[in-house]
Amino acid sequence: MKLILKNARVIDPRNNIDTIGDIGIDESILVDSSTLSRSFSTKIIDVSNLVVTPGLIDMHVHLREPGFEYKEDIRTGTKTAAAGGFTTIVAMPNTNPAIDSIKRIELLNTLIRDSSLINTLPTVCLSKNRQGTELTDIIDIKNNTNVVALTDDGDCIQDDELMLKAMEFAYKADLPIIDHCEDMLVNAGGVIRKGEISKIMGVPGMPGEAESNMVARNVELCKKVKARVHIQHISYYKSINYVREAQECGLPVSAEASPHHLFLTNEILPIAVTNGKMNPPLGTKEDQEALLNALLDNTISVIATDHAPHSPAEKAMDLVSAPFGILGLETAIPLCLTELARSGIMNLSDLVAKFTTGPADVLNLKCGTLSLGKKADITLIDLNKEHRIDINRSFSKSRNSPFHNRSAIGKVVATICAGKFVYSDGSLSS
Ligand SMILES: [Zn+2]
Repeated sequence: MKLILKNARVIDPRNNIDTIGDIGIDESILVDSSTLSRSFSTKIIDVSNLVVTPGLIDMHVHLREPGFEYKEDIRTGTKTAAAGGFTTIVAMPNTNPAIDSIKRIELLNTLIRDSSLINTLPTVCLSKNRQGTELTDIIDIKNNTNVVALTDDGDCIQDDELMLKAMEFAYKADLPIIDHCEDMLVNAGGVIRKGEISKIMGVPGMPGEAESNMVARNVELCKKVKARVHIQHISYYKSINYVREAQECGLPVSAEASPHHLFLTNEILPIAVTNGKMNPPLGTKEDQEALLNALLDNTISVIATDHAPHSPAEKAMDLVSAPFGILGLETAIPLCLTELARSGIMNLSDLVAKFTTGPADVLNLKCGTLSLGKKADITLIDLNKEHRIDINRSFSKSRNSPFHNRSAIGKVVATICAGKFVYSDGSLSS
């Protein structure tokens, strides 16, 4: 297929572009549109009311396959991602079995090849079966597979010596560690952020220090071994301060924020109940403000959804028993467009960077740009589309979201992966 997207507002942070222009696609590759315009076989779509960005990247997704297909699988998860505007996602390895060996990475890659609609990149556990006691064969895995990062997400290596060793291997393998920072002893049994709300609701609380202690620990270890360390779903103001200080010292420490930590606080818990239960837990207004400031000064260079599907039955349990996590792939862009771009907090190009160059730089990915000759991964956005988030229309198998019914302005209308439409909401006319 030869295709020209005409009169788009093209935003490409990697090339510092925010301008009206045309995008040319020849089969799966981005080309100069003027080289296509004389061909009769070229399809032309006028997108003069739309923004065109590089295909978005979500570096924190739980696809649940293998092992938890009743929550999500690679097919439904990547459909959901495509509908959310993502052309590249990074799958967390906390499946059953956990992805902790070359054999299991190969198994996962086979499933991805069979079922994924978009680019799905594997990660591997830092420790065997995420137990935090024995490291995986990091160097061997790097040399023989396509994993883009090391992570025990959902768990966190508590043993400082073992973490230091992990960093030595990560440094040698030139792979980033993307770490779920949690001091399990401090958090033991906690359900939501410790404070006034946990007291009122009568459930055990999780102190913010459970996160910031581990962020501080990682920064200290990073001073000894300059491995790349990326802090997942950062949520507590003190953690952010540690990351900022580390960056000021030139350490290779980066961080991501999730939309739910940016746009919600623990005050929603009495109403949202289990749909407000995530790990790390929702914080306070003070944390929210620190997160926004860190996005603006680029201490946080990535927005990632931590898409975490759970079945209705699981989320119907009481607050203590229900699992942590919410859906994120389809709600991230409408929420960010509404709360960050339209509100004037961030300019659109800087926001797009959090979903493109930000994660691409952390993971050393070549995608996330509209440079000619690259694969034609593209997201089309209608900035003015007013709508209500309807989680019942989600492509996910699960429905756990506190954002249901929230009004938003701005929506993904189409997603193109390697030159093919993998999502279109019907409002594109040619
Ligand atoms: Zn996590």
